[in-house]
Amino acid sequence: MTNESQRARLLLARQRISWPAAKAGYEALGRIRSKSVLIDGFYVKVQYNPARIISSGAVTDAQYVRSRPCFLCSANMSPEQEALPIYPGYTMLCNPYPIFPEHFTLPSLRHTEQRIDGTFADFIRMARMLSGFTLFYNGPRSGASAPDHLHFQAVTGLYMPVDNDALLYREKPFAGDSRGTISLLAGYRRAGFVIEAETEESCRTLFGHIYNVLPLPEGDAEPRMNIFCRYDANRWITTVMPRIQHRPRQYYAEGSDHILAAPGAADMGGVFITSLEEDYEKITPDILCDIYGQVAFDDARLRILAQKIK
Ligand SMILES: [Zn+2]
Repeated sequence: MTNESQRARLLLARQRISWPAAKAGYEALGRIRSKSVLIDGFYVKVQYNPARIISSGAVTDAQYVRSRPCFLCSANMSPEQEALPIYPGYTMLCNPYPIFPEHFTLPSLRHTEQRIDGTFADFIRMARMLSGFTLFYNGPRSGASAPDHLHFQAVTGLYMPVDNDALLYREKPFAGDSRGTISLLAGYRRAGFVIEAETEESCRTLFGHIYNVLPLPEGDAEPRMNIFCRYDANRWITTVMPRIQHRPRQYYAEGSDHILAAPGAADMGGVFITSLEEDYEKITPDILCDIYGQVAFDDARLRILAQKIK
């Protein structure tokens, strides 16, 4: 465990005592219900986590976001919330509404838009510093509940199924350089690119190849995606899942068809969050496949992008 990972764990231990919101949040996490759902031979952990209504029900339209006090700006934080300086330009905070046994937010010290272009190096450097954790990124229109304030998240490593699945089920590499490779994660209902790189430079270059071929929807500031990164056995393992849209049809449906699902990186990584008990009961393999099919790329679309990288 790195020194920074140790400091992060101590921060959480302190905040669970000193900050009532974190104490309550982690106690609530201890009482949540969860079930494993098998789709196509892969498990998804479905979690009923009522506190997460704050995120799945979150309004993220531009007008609302401009009008609310930003919860990632230090000026608006509760006095009990402790900010750990961990990497230049960023700080580490405990998330008081955890999905994971350890759940941190890594916001920029500046109130600046959520973007991966220009910040990917920060993301992977922090992933290396925080070994034992998985870092993830929610694009501004792919699950970020603060699209106006640059942030990453760090969570318990190997808790999301994708952490293991990416390495178990990736195909043979189709592109790369002398220090890294890109392969496809296919047959997984949410297709992705898996970068394995021994050097920071290789990781950045290969991510750049992927970024450059992703479609940019009209009116969006960057291609839609979720990114997962962890550093293990002297290499970065980075999974990029392109997104079609944030919310599935069920989110807007009325009556029994309605599900309050707003998938972000956790859901794409295989920890599917429901904040209403009736939704939790409702989730079946078919519904999960249907939702992933609406918000993620399928294998065929990903292979077309891969052709452009080769
Ligand atoms: Zn802010």
